[in-house]
Amino acid sequence: MTKKLVYAFSGKKADGKANMKNLLGGKGANLAEMASLGIDVPPGFTVSTEACVNYFKNKNKFPPKLWDEILMHLKSLEKTVGKKFGGSENPLLVSVRSGARVSMPGMMDTVLNLGLNENSLHGLAKKTQNEWFALDTYRRFISMFSNVVLNIDSARFESILEKEKKKRSIKVDTELSVKDLKSIIKKFKAIVVRDTNKKFPNDPMKQLRMAVEGVFNSWNTERAVIYRKMHGYSQDWGTAVTVQSMVFGNMGKTSATGVAFTRNPATGERKFFGEYMINAQGEDVVAGIRTPNSIDQLEIDMPDIYQELVNVYRRLEKHYKDMQDMEFTIENEKLYLLQTRSGKRTAESAIKVAVDMVDEGLIDKNEALLRVPADQLGQLFHPMIDPKAKVKRLGKGLGASPGAAAGKIVFTSEAAEEMVEKKEKVILVRMETSPEDIRGMNVAEGIITAKGGMTSHAAVVARAMGKPCVSGVEGLIVNSRRKTCSLGGVKMKELTPLTLDGTTGEVIEGIVPLTQSKLTGSFTRMVTWAGETRSLQIRANADTPNDALMAREFGAQGIGLCRTEHMFFDKEHIFQVRKMILADSNKVRNEALKKLLPVQRKDFLGIFKAMEGLPVTVRLLDPPLHEFLPRATQEIKNLAREMEISSSALSKKIESMSEMNPMLGHRGCRLGITFPEIYKMQARAILEAGCRLVKDGIKVYPEIMVPLIGHVNEFKIVREFILEVASEVLKKEGTNLDFKIGTMIELPRAALTADEIANEADFFSFGTNDLTQTAFGFSRDDSGSFLRQYVDMELLDHDPFVSFDQKGLGQLVQIAFEKGRKVKPKIHMGVCGEHGGDPSSIGFFSRLGFDYVSCSPYRVPTAILAAAQAVIKKNP
Ligand code: PEP
Ligand code: MG
Repeated sequence: MTKKLVYAFSGKKADGKANMKNLLGGKGANLAEMASLGIDVPPGFTVSTEACVNYFKNKNKFPPKLWDEILMHLKSLEKTVGKKFGGSENPLLVSVRSGARVSMPGMMDTVLNLGLNENSLHGLAKKTQNEWFALDTYRRFISMFSNVVLNIDSARFESILEKEKKKRSIKVDTELSVKDLKSIIKKFKAIVVRDTNKKFPNDPMKQLRMAVEGVFNSWNTERAVIYRKMHGYSQDWGTAVTVQSMVFGNMGKTSATGVAFTRNPATGERKFFGEYMINAQGEDVVAGIRTPNSIDQLEIDMPDIYQELVNVYRRLEKHYKDMQDMEFTIENEKLYLLQTRSGKRTAESAIKVAVDMVDEGLIDKNEALLRVPADQLGQLFHPMIDPKAKVKRLGKGLGASPGAAAGKIVFTSEAAEEMVEKKEKVILVRMETSPEDIRGMNVAEGIITAKGGMTSHAAVVARAMGKPCVSGVEGLIVNSRRKTCSLGGVKMKELTPLTLDGTTGEVIEGIVPLTQSKLTGSFTRMVTWAGETRSLQIRANADTPNDALMAREFGAQGIGLCRTEHMFFDKEHIFQVRKMILADSNKVRNEALKKLLPVQRKDFLGIFKAMEGLPVTVRLLDPPLHEFLPRATQEIKNLAREMEISSSALSKKIESMSEMNPMLGHRGCRLGITFPEIYKMQARAILEAGCRLVKDGIKVYPEIMVPLIGHVNEFKIVREFILEVASEVLKKEGTNLDFKIGTMIELPRAALTADEIANEADFFSFGTNDLTQTAFGFSRDDSGSFLRQYVDMELLDHDPFVSFDQKGLGQLVQIAFEKGRKVKPKIHMGVCGEHGGDPSSIGFFSRLGFDYVSCSPYRVPTAILAAAQAVIKKNP
């Protein structure tokens, strides 16, 4: 027997359950689960994602039997609810809703009130004794169906509605008269005829079939495709389609529709949280068209319903053991749940909810650690407005997504992308956001909208992205066409600087200084649990004592990479480094080195002190040569004067050193081998700093790391002269120092001959940035342009400089790892490329058995959590 494509839910019966999300989508699966729990959901059925996938395979045709199955379920739905689809007495209307296996808020389409035509319109008016309601429902259906199924821009319908309201001098839709609605419906239908050359479909069966296809097709809208790419979701999953009998929140003052979270999705506070609108339908709240009431008001407006809702949410939370995001409708004082799903939340909220749920005995620690997406932790370190800053507040809205952001305002996604390309920071200002704005939201520092509540599109999407957002700003008037807006009496045009605080909801004039947010007790507890669980150690990439201290506060267990070239970028350092590199005589070179030695020693003293008791890996100089050669005429002149040669002679020398491909040129240990004085000076500075601290009773563990080794002989030479320097320094200082000499593995040849190198080296640290560059043959500097396209074309799943290429490069790392350990079973192995802060790469390195990964200080907590998650996933 072929597998069925449609699954029903009604009363206490359902064909599906919560764990069938892949087949029924999140919405369909959870509706089935709620029905089984005896919670009131309007009955309906769900067309599976398999049917959708087959529809696409079938060149956008329904798979065989699908329509028959839908009709069969429609018949039994009619029976269950006692209404007739398209009937003239008591018509059944349905919603046709998309639902992927993961929630993609606002990315796909839904059609409400389907089944209305001239015939059933009268039936609905008669049954409800409310002609106004029936007409309002019909006009909503026509515009929604036309937009989703017939691809007519919804702005066309909106503008008719606005014109009509203006003509009648009224502000809200509910003030339209029956006559107005009839005229609006006529005009809506005329648009359809004008645009499609066909009448608006009158046959409910035809409407249903077209709507199911429309929802299938909405899987492939540009915004949905982009959203999936951004979140790494497969394009092949397809959407389920839930067909559900309609209940109405727009039947007057005793009806309402709303969205609620069982806890606060921004802070995690254990308090019922949500919004609703009286006499409104479906998407009104989510779309942010009108500003809704807080759920607390419902306790006053409809106390019994409120209590019922509280009971339902408590049951659902206990059942799912997670914070829920629910959609509900109240139809003539009867409560229906339309959806429940795990609520999207900020990192702060995710941590608090997970930790609280452990305390409440709902979940265990391991489950709590898996509940927080590791890369979301970065959100916690979003800047806040400096409390000491003097600010001029222009207006206030809802603090929809925490953190502060400052930048120049833009009014469209295109402008946002264009300015960000030019390295500008931008704030996207919109009347309200729609899913089309996702590109702009993605690149903006923050988002401000004039309309919309805490569950509006802007709020939900911004929160998931971790972007600061203020929604529903009172008094903000936006004219996107003219590219102007005004707030608090101030007129602004494109690129006016502005600051927003997504925590307090404030909009502030100009660019205001920002500071970092503080971390909560829940955060500390969670990171402590993660620390106890993981097997990987986490170190930080830091080049200054300040960064080192910050990393240590975040839980770093050492420095995995101190890039010494970053220490040379200040004016005085670079002058001396240039002199040393360009010197023709030992005398000039030694002069420069003499000046560099004490400053380097001071650098290391600072870092070693900050990391007292922990290892610090100092990488010897590794810049592409061109970064150090002077370019400006004045710089060349000054240097020539210092070196007592002519400018033209110096220019010639610089020219002779210029390289075609500096990334693969005279850098790393190659520089150290041809100019050994540099590395010797650095080694001396490291060791002298170490010895002096040891003499002061401070524990230091310097690890000297040699970059860009491709052949063991390169390492041998460098190690040799470091050891010479070491014996001299230790003798002179008269003390012992526990230090190591190791190498980076960042070239394929080094990986393949790791056994030879391990014989000589005390440790390996994998430079996965250069390893990616050299193994793929992608220049780190030049691949940005085409790599983005590669990812867009799905030629690559992801940018390999962001997330480690486990399949290809993973083999090189594995070979090096195994060869190294075979020769020296205890050789210390770490990763210090950018992948050390990427959760999925961390999982890979943890599984291979690495000792540590090293990442930028702000990513240390992310790495600690990702490392713990890797262990839990391996041994669930
Ligand atoms: C690397 O190549 O991965 C690395 C850490 O070194 P850098 O990025 O400084 O080249
Ligand atoms: Mg490198």
